[in-house]
Amino acid sequence: LPDWYAMRSGEFNVFPDGVAEPENSQQVQELLQWAMQHQVQVIPYGGGTSVAGHITPQASSQPILTLSLARMNNLISLDRTSQIARFGAGTAGPHLEQQLAEHGFMLGHFPQSFELSTVGGWVASRSSGQQSIRYGRIEQLFAGGRIETPRGTLNIPTIPASSAGPDMRELFMGTEGRVGIITEVDVRVQRLPEHESFHCAFLPDWDSAVNLVRQLVQNKVQLSLLRLSNPEETRTHLLLGADGLAVKWLNRYAALRGSPDGKCMLTFGTSGTKSQT
Ligand SMILES: Cc1cc2nc3c(=O)[nH]c(=O)nc-3n(C[C@H](O)[C@H](O)[C@H](O)COP(=O)(O)OP(=O)(O)OC[C@H]3O[C@@H](n4cnc5c(N)ncnc54)[C@H](O)[C@@H]3O)c2cc1C
Repeated sequence: LPDWYAMRSGEFNVFPDGVAEPENSQQVQELLQWAMQHQVQVIPYGGGTSVAGHITPQASSQPILTLSLARMNNLISLDRTSQIARFGAGTAGPHLEQQLAEHGFMLGHFPQSFELSTVGGWVASRSSGQQSIRYGRIEQLFAGGRIETPRGTLNIPTIPASSAGPDMRELFMGTEGRVGIITEVDVRVQRLPEHESFHCAFLPDWDSAVNLVRQLVQNKVQLSLLRLSNPEETRTHLLLGADGLAVKWLNRYAALRGSPDGKCMLTFGTSGTKSQT
């Protein structure tokens, strides 16, 4: 909302003095050295979908440089045996899935900001997706990567879970760019599912809906997506989709069975082999 308000009113208050668009990790390292030498503040920028305000510069006597990862947006390598793919940190969701699909793989990380947010941003903000119930949150998907800091480069290898000491990956997830700039990200990928389907069910009230969700989760029913909308969100979804033929049929059906007003919508999905789904 603050961004939207600034764009409509033209009152941007503080904004960066410059934007850099490096093409590789080496250039990111050079920019950090330059920034340190000239006392410039650096803000890493992925897809810019942050809702926490960290990409918005604060008033400062120092110059501010936004460092966009937008040009580092490609699949760098794919190890089909261990199913680990390396991406440039600025790769946005759709481009990431498209590049994997060409090889028969997918990541399955779908935050609601999927279209714009980037794999580096997901790690930096410890993101979770709409289908994390099946594919895992970013904690399970982030296998390693390359991080540039003013003190040099840090490579985090894709080692499996170990009982010896803390996991280095945990030090970087959720740091919002404070400890370094993630330039390359290794993620655990999966083969594309044979079959995927999504469904909706309407439940009479919030208490019975919550009870059903709890039972599904506690009994570990294998779903790829599970989202419960309260009556207000249900109504909004139906209004937003009101032009769609499917929603018209749904409303007609619902009218026969009693109005959807006041009901809760449970959206769920399955994915896997045909027999599993
Ligand atoms: C409509 C909408 C829906 C959303 N839905 C979800 C959701 O379902 N789940 C969820 O978890 N979040 C959600 N978010 C929040 C946001 O999309 C996530 O936090 C996302 O992971 C941010 O990714 P980004 O690439 O846009 O990062 P940015 O917004 O560009 O940056 C986020 C933070 O990470 C830092 N950063 C970015 N890239 C790097 C990098 N390469 N190295 C180091 N630091 C970096 C930035 O400095 C900033 O502090 C939503 C946001 C919006 C606007």
